[in-house]
Amino acid sequence: MVTTHNLGLPRIGGRRQLKFSLEAYWRGEIDAQQLTTTGQQIRAQNSEHQQALDWACVGDFSLYDHVLDTSIMLGNLPRRFAQQQLTPLDRYFQVARGRSTEASTPLAAAEMTKWFDTNYHYLVPEFERETQFELNAEQLLMQIEESQSKNLKPVIIGPVTYLWLGKSKDGSNPLDLLERLLPVYQQLLQQLADAGIEWLQIDEPILVTELDQTWRHALRNAYFRLQTKTIKLLLTTYFGSLKENLQLACELPVAGLHIDATRARDEVERIIDWLPQHKILSLGVIDGRNIWKCHLNSLLDWLEPIHQRLGDRLWLAPSCSLLHVPVDLESETDLDDEIKSWLSFALQKLSELETLASALNHGRQAVARQLSDNAQAIQRRSESPQIHIPAVVDRIAKITEAMSQRRHPFATRRTIQQQRLNLPLFPTTTIGSFPQTNEIRQARKAHREGRLSSADYRNAMEKEIAQAIRLQEDVGLDVLVHGEAERNDMVEYFAEFLSGFAFTRFGWVQSYGSRCVKPPIIYGDVQRQTDITTQWTSYAQSLTNKPVKGMLTGPVTMLNWSFVRDDQPLALTCNQLALALRDEVLALEQAGTAIIQIDEAALREGLPLRRKQWPDYLEWALKAFRLTANGVQDDTQIHTHMCYSEFNDIIESIAAMDADVITIETSRSDMELLDVFESYEYPNEIGPGVYDIHSPNIPSMASMVKLIQLAQLRIPAERLWINPDCGLKTRQWQEVIPALKNMQQAARRLREEARLDSQQTTTA
Ligand code: GLN
Ligand code: ZN
Repeated sequence: MVTTHNLGLPRIGGRRQLKFSLEAYWRGEIDAQQLTTTGQQIRAQNSEHQQALDWACVGDFSLYDHVLDTSIMLGNLPRRFAQQQLTPLDRYFQVARGRSTEASTPLAAAEMTKWFDTNYHYLVPEFERETQFELNAEQLLMQIEESQSKNLKPVIIGPVTYLWLGKSKDGSNPLDLLERLLPVYQQLLQQLADAGIEWLQIDEPILVTELDQTWRHALRNAYFRLQTKTIKLLLTTYFGSLKENLQLACELPVAGLHIDATRARDEVERIIDWLPQHKILSLGVIDGRNIWKCHLNSLLDWLEPIHQRLGDRLWLAPSCSLLHVPVDLESETDLDDEIKSWLSFALQKLSELETLASALNHGRQAVARQLSDNAQAIQRRSESPQIHIPAVVDRIAKITEAMSQRRHPFATRRTIQQQRLNLPLFPTTTIGSFPQTNEIRQARKAHREGRLSSADYRNAMEKEIAQAIRLQEDVGLDVLVHGEAERNDMVEYFAEFLSGFAFTRFGWVQSYGSRCVKPPIIYGDVQRQTDITTQWTSYAQSLTNKPVKGMLTGPVTMLNWSFVRDDQPLALTCNQLALALRDEVLALEQAGTAIIQIDEAALREGLPLRRKQWPDYLEWALKAFRLTANGVQDDTQIHTHMCYSEFNDIIESIAAMDADVITIETSRSDMELLDVFESYEYPNEIGPGVYDIHSPNIPSMASMVKLIQLAQLRIPAERLWINPDCGLKTRQWQEVIPALKNMQQAARRLREEARLDSQQTTTA
């Protein structure tokens, strides 16, 4: 018999109950008890959803983040929070969210970073040479105790991955802490065994990354030391192939191994060969990262012989935790029925798993109806006229190399653009969005619900644009923006004008803490249906003599922030997006827009987990960007924006995008990231963000002057722009106006200094 189990469910709730409870708790509207009740309800529902499985996952719930929970369980909180007189719950939230400047001394929240190659962000554990650990498994034990189901398999993060996820604060090596950490894990294993637990899922996803000898050795050491007769360990990996770590993963002394059989399917044969006979093999066959129904019959064709070989040693599960997909497709009552029949969210994925197991255990005829329904849906999807647009296929075939090249090199373009734009030294601009006020959101909602006519909605947005233009003129900025009032979201807004996209109402996925995203679904060929932004940009331009930048979201970001179709390569979908957006770029140019910004906020997110695979990704991703951007005339200035500070390792690829101007995030790192420009001369113009838009603080003129002076050590003044780190949509106008005034003052000061400098050189 095959055994079914699960690696985790979404914890935000099908209606984002946890989000709303958390935020109400933080605002002081509900008390800790009420928040706890929400958590209990979600856990109770999740345990019900797993009833038909042989093993239900427990310990996957978290009020904020499961890595922070692990830090609490191991007694490792950043030292700065230790002295606070707070309940454990409030301390937990303080580590997650920091303490703002209104309190006596501000406390920085733990740093957040992306969970492997997902869009989920975890709180980075902090380590010091002196870090001590102490077991505090209360929360996990409580979840085990409260659960009604009998067959519980708790999940924890393994010790080596835990150290790998963290950051040393004093230059010490986190791995040196392993000796201190292992006894705590041993104790934890004992406590779980005492609580009646038979199987423990212990996650070591770092096994799908490139590990050096010290990390591989640490894994060997750790699992050798954690061997015990009292509890069985299911060593769990996900998000990729094991590759050079395959043998290691097979050999570690545990009772079972789980692998991501959607991304590492081609390794299964070798794993079966390597895996000792006494171990079970759990195959994660249902894709936990995407929302498509799996093809049950073809999976069974593959699994049946494996089942014959492995017998009871075969377990089945989703590839990873279902945290990364929405909860329940049944909630989507507005979705096109045909498209809906192709999809599967977390709960549907559990049913697929049960069907697979029944077919293996009792023969396909036992689930004949489910299998034929599934086969029909898969068949209909592959043949659907909704998916394939011959014109798109045709255009893709006609892409030429020349289409992604500008007509002339940057140096030539630059002179032509200078003549057209006539900008001063240190031109000032913003990244696109202005505050999304309550009125804007109300108007959008009213329009969506049919309470506000399209004409009235348009008027309301034009009023916002006019106000934004007026304010920017008052401040004296050089390159203006229309402010993006009409956009709910930088991806969804564009997707709504493209074919091949579907949207959900409740398809939320946790991004961090109480924050969720609702990725659109790319199900078919992508084509631009009408002009998207020209009317707004042209209206804005009609109000001012200063240049107004056109604002677009780039193809790679559209791709990386959507659920993508799985029936063709990503690169191809990205090229379709590129052609659609290229049309918009050319439409803007046609309408007289001299500057067009193409945001690639999520370019870096698509980087594969293994560096060896980076060049391939970068090649097609950047080609798609160039295809979008580079069809314009020399006198059109292309900007791009990326809102992260690490791109040292991909700087050459970024330069190869050949955008005339790039704006990036830097203010929080004191321009440290510009270090790369010492060794690499970035050829085009660059606007290192001087205003940290994530903070409510208003940056002073002096601080911004200082940052640009630092930047000038590496980049010549003639190639520097002055701008904030990112869009301003989450800020308030009363913060933005003084901040931008200071920014403009900073530019004036810098121009003045440059003028004095050049006078000195001429008189000297
Ligand atoms: N133009 C977008 C804005 O200003 C860019 C957002 C982003 O980079 N995340 O909002
Ligand atoms: Zn940004």
